[in-house]
Formats: sequence, C-alpha cells, structure tokens
Amino acid sequence: MDAPFNQVPPLTTWEGLFNFWNSNPDAVPFAGGIQFLRFQGKRAPVLPHKLISLEDIEELHRITRTEQYLELGAMVRLSEIINLGTTVPEILRKCLEGIAGPQIRNSTTIGGNICATSHHMDSCAALIALDARYELRSMASTPPTSFTLSSLFSTQSSTRWIAASRFTSASLAPRELLTRIRIPLEPWNYSLYRKFHRSELDNTDTGVIVLLLRNQKEILTDIRIVFAGSTVLEDKRIESLLSGKHLPLSRKDVHAAIVQWETCLATLSPEQSFIRTELSNFVTTSLLGLVD
Ligand SMILES: Cc1cc2nc3c(=O)[nH]c(=O)nc-3n(C[C@H](O)[C@H](O)[C@H](O)COP(=O)(O)OP(=O)(O)OC[C@H]3O[C@@H](n4cnc5c(N)ncnc54)[C@H](O)[C@@H]3O)c2cc1C
Repeated sequence: MDAPFNQVPPLTTWEGLFNFWNSNPDAVPFAGGIQFLRFQGKRAPVLPHKLISLEDIEELHRITRTEQYLELGAMVRLSEIINLGTTVPEILRKCLEGIAGPQIRNSTTIGGNICATSHHMDSCAALIALDARYELRSMASTPPTSFTLSSLFSTQSSTRWIAASRFTSASLAPRELLTRIRIPLEPWNYSLYRKFHRSELDNTDTGVIVLLLRNQKEILTDIRIVFAGSTVLEDKRIESLLSGKHLPLSRKDVHAAIVQWETCLATLSPEQSFIRTELSNFVTTSLLGLVD
C-alpha cells in the first residue's frame, strides 16, 4: 500500500535524513512550511507529495557566538534571532523585524527565508552586505575510505561553504540542504534599510536595500550598498570610489558614486521601473546626506 500523503517521518540524524532522501528523491525539505501555505487562501492546503521535516535535527536549531562570528542553524526561527538583541548585527535585525507579523516570524526559519524559491527574501540583502557564508550539506560524493560492514550500510554526509552573495535557491545541488549561516560580527557604525513592495502578487518590483557604513574618526573605511529582490544589485566600484575618503564626503565623490549606481540600475528590466526609481531615490538621498 502507498504511504499516506504528506507523511513526515521523524528524522533525527543526518544519516537517517539522507537515507530517506536517497530512497525518496522527489521529497522536498520542510522548514517552517510557510512558503507551501502562503497564497492558499482558506481552502485545505495542497502540499508536495513527500516532505522531509527538518525539525528534529538538533544541529539545525543551534545558535553559536564566537568573537568573530554569529552562527545560526538553518532551522532557527526569525523571532529567535530578533530576540538575541544586540548580538545580531543591527541591519539583519531591522530586515527580520520588517517581515510579516509576529506569528509568521515565529514559524519562519532563517534557512527557509534564504532558500525560498520565488525570489531573494528579506534577510538576503543584509546577509550579502555582511559577507555571510552558508554551509551546504549533502550526501558525500566520495566513497568511504575503508570498507567495514557498517560503512556499506551508512550514508556519509559532506559540507561545502558558499558566499551569501553567490547563493540562490538554484545553488543547491539535488538533495542538498542549507544547514548553517555564518555571519561576521565586524562592527558597522551606521546602517539603513528600506523595503519596497508594490504588489503582494508580483515579485518583480519587490525587494530590500541596505546601506552599511564604517568609519574611523573622520575617514570612511567601508561602505556597502546591496539590493536583493528579483535580482541582486551590488556594485563594488562604489565601495572603491568612496572607501578611504574623508567625512563629510565631497560633492564630486558622491556624484561619481551616484552615477555608478545609476549604471548598475540600468541593468534592471523596463518592467522594474518602480523599483528603479525607488532605488535611485534611496541611494541619492542617503549619499547626499554624507556631503558637507
Ligand atoms: C502573510 C505572509 C507574509 C510574508 N511576508 C514576508 C515578507 O515580508 N518578507 C519575507 O522575506 N518573507 C515573507 N513571507 C514569506 C516567508 O518569510 C517565507 O515563505 C519563508 O521565509 C519560508 O520559510 P519557512 O521557514 O517557512 O520555509 P519553508 O516554507 O518550509 O521552505 C521554503 C523553501 O525552502 C526550502 N527549504 C527550507 N529550508 C531549507 C533548507 N534548510 N535547505 C534547503 N532548502 C530548504 C523548502 O523546500 C521550500 O522550497 C511571508 C509569508 C506570509 C505567509
């Protein structure tokens, strides 16, 4: 007899999880489940035929802090991250606080927000700007080095790391999971966040832009401007145009940075005219605020 629809077996170890996934290659990871339930209205929700619950893998709920990094397991809920307070870089907290209401933030996981398939969700711009890296885990592609009886029946898993700036949900290989998010804790002196949202049903003109500044006395030592939505915009040339300059900035330097940003915006499609205008206004106003 076929297994009932939507049955989620308790998977508590990597070995159990990847063994299950190996024998059910069409199964889909289930974190908070919010993406599956969104836009289904009041009818009985339709879910993928086979789900892999990530809930019982203890490691995925872990939060670790060292002097240099904050590490979040992929199953940590957005509200848990917000509740860590000042341990979390301010720009990431601002982005997470802007996501839906408390009930959704209690269910949504950071891993699910990063892996959501529609477009880059609200945590992504901050994670890219902060130079976060993601740990991805899959079944090992290399065979075990020694062939003991137990190694014949066990599934080894292996990990690789990828920069947040290079990650999209398409970066995941078949049967690969996002397992850990590593966020550098270098301090930033100033952070700005804006969310653009024209329509609930159309992701073309939706996204988040963040701006981070670091200064030492009166020298601007680092600046990051990142937009993430249907696409990611980050122009490293703006960073090199402005880093190392004296604060307040000269009108000439800011003008050059604005021209550079407009070049970056020119890559957006004509359908993205709303977001293009908003991103142009945001960056122009923010940078002019740094002029004498
Ligand atoms: C009313 C409402 C308003 C919302 N508003 C916002 C908003 O303003 N901003 C915003 O960013 N989001 C918003 N969301 C969307 C919500 O944040 C995302 O759908 C959510 O981030 C998905 O997270 P989840 O933990 O529920 O993941 P799931 O729904 O369980 O998974 C999402 C996708 O990622 C895959 N996946 C999950 N975890 C992993 C993993 N560890 N490794 C590999 N693949 C994985 C799943 O297979 C699935 O394809 C809203 C949702 C609702 C219902």
